[in-house]
Amino acid sequence: MDKLRSKKEKGIRFIKKKITLLDGSSQEYFIDLNPKAHIAQVRQKRKIYVNKNFEDLSREEKLATIYHERGHSRFILFEGLSKVIAPLFAIFSLLNIVLLSLMLAGQSYLLIPTIIINSFLLFLGYILIFWLVEIVADSNAIKMMGKKIVIKNIGKVYENKKFNLENDWIMHPPWRIRKKIMENLD
Ligand SMILES: [Zn+2]
Repeated sequence: MDKLRSKKEKGIRFIKKKITLLDGSSQEYFIDLNPKAHIAQVRQKRKIYVNKNFEDLSREEKLATIYHERGHSRFILFEGLSKVIAPLFAIFSLLNIVLLSLMLAGQSYLLIPTIIINSFLLFLGYILIFWLVEIVADSNAIKMMGKKIVIKNIGKVYENKKFNLENDWIMHPPWRIRKKIMENLD
């Protein structure tokens, strides 16, 4: 019963749409009616989801957004990398736990700097991967639509946004840095 209901709800929450791309082909996307949904996102099976505000954008702005998302969904390299990167993260995390246990068991405080450096590198690597993925998506949008419209379009979302550590610093480069990078892309 519950399963049935959730399926039905899913059907109501998403509206399937299509947009014609510059080359005349069409791109399917789904409008997520959840008011908290992100402006645009690639979710499972490489499908593009947008929020309600997306429909208010001009065609140019819609395309800039869609090409950014296509830059995510078509970034096959990342899928390959993630197969390598995920185990690496697991190994480093495990190493941290082992070091921490050794330190606690032997009370060897000499391990503390190693643990701190290890954790820092782990965190830095984690963030840089997300940033790299965003930059690749931005450069895909710029390649198709030009810098001006892409910077303006993404700027609308991030320029006056309240500070959100996870969404705007970890998952994406901070807006000022992101804008600088885009301005320097060719
Ligand atoms: Zn993105």
